[in-house]
Amino acid sequence: MKKPKIAVIGSSSMDLVVTSKRRPLAGETVLGESFEMVPGGKGANQAVAAARLGAEVHMIGCVGDDTYGKDILDNFKNNGVHIGYVKQITNQSSGTAHIILAEGDNSIVVVKGANDFVTPEYVNQSLTLLKKFDLVMIQQEVPEETVLEAVRLCHEIGVPLLLNPAPARAISNEVVDKAAYLTPNEHEAGMLFNGLELSKALEKYHNKLFITEGAAGVRYHDGSGEHLVPSFPVKVVDTTGAGDTFNAAFGTAIAEGRDLKESLRFANRAASMSVTGFGAQGGMPTREEVEKGLA
Ligand code: ADP
Repeated sequence: MKKPKIAVIGSSSMDLVVTSKRRPLAGETVLGESFEMVPGGKGANQAVAAARLGAEVHMIGCVGDDTYGKDILDNFKNNGVHIGYVKQITNQSSGTAHIILAEGDNSIVVVKGANDFVTPEYVNQSLTLLKKFDLVMIQQEVPEETVLEAVRLCHEIGVPLLLNPAPARAISNEVVDKAAYLTPNEHEAGMLFNGLELSKALEKYHNKLFITEGAAGVRYHDGSGEHLVPSFPVKVVDTTGAGDTFNAAFGTAIAEGRDLKESLRFANRAASMSVTGFGAQGGMPTREEVEKGLA
């Protein structure tokens, strides 16, 4: 199997996680119990997952010139992600997510920071310099115009683009038409095809639209009928990053030339393994682990 070359356009951030018995009221200070920093951002998560699965991954993104930016770059390097197209923005903070885990629920404040600098111009320039690759992956934690530019450029040069439309927002018909693959979860699919029944959307966008359904797996239409490709039963520790692992694995398998059905099975296997570890990147498996799980 050839080593596929993938460009991942997207966000990167540092997640600052505190656990506390309860969350503070306005104007109040409470004592927390623990603090942890974990790298995240959908773009970074998908880049790291694809690299662990054996792809040659080139990240296209931006970090700030703070200490988190350095930590994010180190994390890419430690996972074998190429960072020649990750720009450090002067006088900007890196993307951060401030997470309070309390009373069995989380409250999150996201600061986009340098991720807003992943502009259409920067993406166009990076993809042009990067030249030949097998697949481009993008999500929606970068500006809307950036997604549109990436979709247009890839369509023009004939490189398939996988859009993971997360977090949910409405997207234009042009983006839907020009993307090669769309991978919303059920909630995001509801937003995308507002008014259109999902089974109708699956049929209309057969072999393009893949709706993930958590533990159940992934649903698609192959032109002659609708199929549910089941996931694998596992002991769940933390489902954060399941979608990111699914996308990275699906993209890697497609880019190395596997057929759709096989790619979806590979993606389900990798994503199901990812929910057995803590944190978005914590449970992301290597290729060897996934192959073993499929054997
Ligand atoms: P998201 O994380 O984006 O909300 P889903 O919850 O649909 O997306 O999960 C994406 C994929 O991860 C699923 O299609 C499936 O392959 C896998 N997955 C998620 N949760 C589980 C689970 N509890 N058991 C097994 N596989 C899971």
